[in-house]
Amino acid sequence: MNYQLELQRAAEAALPVLGTGRVADYIPALAEVDPASFGLALATVDGAVYGAGDWEQPFSVQSISKLFTLALALATGGESVWHRVGREPSGTPFNSLVQLESENGIPRNPFLNSGAIVVTDRLLTLTGDAGRTVRDFLRAESGNPLLDTDPAVAASEAAHGHRNAALAHFIASYGNLENPVEDVLSNYYAHCALTASCRDLALSGLFLARHGLLADGSRLLSRSDAKRINAVLLTCGTYDAAGEFAYRVGLPGKSGVGGGILTIVPGRGALCAWGPALDRAGNSVGAVAALDAFTTATGWSIF
Ligand code: GLN
Repeated sequence: MNYQLELQRAAEAALPVLGTGRVADYIPALAEVDPASFGLALATVDGAVYGAGDWEQPFSVQSISKLFTLALALATGGESVWHRVGREPSGTPFNSLVQLESENGIPRNPFLNSGAIVVTDRLLTLTGDAGRTVRDFLRAESGNPLLDTDPAVAASEAAHGHRNAALAHFIASYGNLENPVEDVLSNYYAHCALTASCRDLALSGLFLARHGLLADGSRLLSRSDAKRINAVLLTCGTYDAAGEFAYRVGLPGKSGVGGGILTIVPGRGALCAWGPALDRAGNSVGAVAALDAFTTATGWSIF
C-alpha cells in the first residue's frame, strides 16, 4: 500500500467539512486555534511515520492523554484501578456528573473526565507526579524531547474548571480519591494541557498496536492488557459518539477537545488526525471524516 498517497486522499476527504463544527471555547486558551488547521499522521509498527497537512504542528492533546494515564496506571500499579472505575460506556457527555451519585462515586469508565480524574489520582499515588509521568512517556515514545505542558492552557483549564472541580470533590466525598482534590486536578490539567503533534501522538500510541511493547522493544503492558485498553477505547474513547465512531471508522480511538483523535490499528500501526472544530459530542469533525475515508479506502479496521 502507498501510505503517503492514502493519507493524502484521506486529508483531501476532510477538506469539505473543515468549516463544520466549533472550536472548544469553554477552555478559553483553546479557542485561539485556527479552525481550518488539519493534520494526519500514520506510524507503522516498525516505527516509520508518514504525514499529511499540519501533521507536525503541535496542538493541545486534552483527553487523548487519558489513554496514556490509564496505560501507565495499569503498567505501574496493576489491575487495582479497576476497583475504582468501571469499563462501561456512559451514553453521557465527557464532563457529565449525573451517573456519579447513583453509582456511588465510581465513574463509568476511565475516559470520561470523572474516570480520568480517578486514574490520575492513582497514577499520582504510584509515581508522585502524574503529569510528568505522562509527559516523559510521550517524550520517550515520540522521540521529541521538547514535548511539554502548555502552562497557559493548564492555567486556563484551572481557572474555568468548575465542572472538573465539582466532579473531583464529589468523587472524594465517596472516598474514591487518595490525594487532595487540588493536587489531583493540577496533575489532570498538566497532562490534558500537553502539547503534541499528530506525528508525536501516532508514535506514542504504537505500544497498543504492538500489543504492549514500547519503541525500545521492552514490554509496558501484557498482551491481554493492551487488548483490553483497545476494547475500552472502542466502546468509550469517543464518549456518547462511540457507536457512530465504530460505525464510521471501525478502530479503537481516543478524542480530545483540542481536536485530535488517536486511533489504533492492532498489529499494524497508529493513526492520529487533528482538526480543531468539534461536533456536539466533542469529537473533531475533520478528524472523524479523514479517519473514515482512510479506513474505508484501505480496509484497515478491526472488523
Ligand atoms: N481537559 C478537558 C476537560 O477537562 C478534557 C476534555 C476532553 O478533551 N474531552 O474538560
